[in-house]
Amino acid sequence: MAEHDVRSKQNYGQLYIVATPIGNLQDISPRAIDTLNNVDVIAAEDTRHSGHLLKQLDINTHRIALHEHNERDMAERLTLQIIEGKNIALISDAGTPLVSDPGYHLVKLSHQKEIKVVPIPGPSALIAALSAAGLATDRFCFEGFVPSKRSQRKSYYAQRVKEVRTMVFYETPHRIVDSLVDLCGEFGDERRVVMARELTKTFETIRNDTAKQLLQWVVADTNQQKGEIVLVVEGFKETQQDSLSEFNEHVLRTLLNELSLKQAVQLAVDITGEKKKKLYNFALSLKDET
Ligand code: SAM
Repeated sequence: MAEHDVRSKQNYGQLYIVATPIGNLQDISPRAIDTLNNVDVIAAEDTRHSGHLLKQLDINTHRIALHEHNERDMAERLTLQIIEGKNIALISDAGTPLVSDPGYHLVKLSHQKEIKVVPIPGPSALIAALSAAGLATDRFCFEGFVPSKRSQRKSYYAQRVKEVRTMVFYETPHRIVDSLVDLCGEFGDERRVVMARELTKTFETIRNDTAKQLLQWVVADTNQQKGEIVLVVEGFKETQQDSLSEFNEHVLRTLLNELSLKQAVQLAVDITGEKKKKLYNFALSLKDET
């Protein structure tokens, strides 16, 4: 704060990054309301959408649109206005601007021009989901929207299988089933996953389960395929992923004494029903040991 005060030019206005509710209007902070009432201009992702919120809050501040298609141009224009002394607030359709929402170019340019950027913190689906997920929060990573195309989604998940931090993804309702199918395929049926849907709204649902059971539940109840969704995925745990049950390990070890690695793994798959990849990796690790 002190550093900002020294650097910002005396007659410049300021840029406020204001978080707005992700569903429940009561989540707007008094400071956010004050700011939105007192700035000269509100730059909104969608002026009509935000118009609804601002009307309910009885805020009549002038609004202009700043969305992903005009952000670079608008960033130039808005920073000029701030330099001329205007105060500007940035809001998105819901939650915290810049979190899978426009604003990055404006904030970056503001710093380049030594404009003071003031966050007015508040709701974000990412943090709301994480806080209620019941998965480790000491370290986590936000991964934004999952790719829409199946092949890209599969490799996107595959690249993250060994990520040890809790992962947070945004997903759309019409892709949730396909996405959970791919998630099971790449992370394994047993990985714990939390689906947080319609947070802060009437049909808020938060379910913490294994990937497979979560998928079955979502398929069986089509209501779970509606609304806004955050997926929180447990980080990789060495023991959870690579260890076999005592019985499966015994079967594999016995077969490995008599057969080639390939034959032993295939027969172990037939006997135990365990995933081939898991048995194969375990067999390889035994070979490394010897
Ligand atoms: N900037 C927003 C934030 O801070 O969370 C996120 C905007 S992003 C364009 C919209 C996505 O956020 C939705 O598709 C959904 O994945 C998630 N999201 C937003 N509101 C939500 C809610 N109430 N419940 C669950 N997920 C939500």
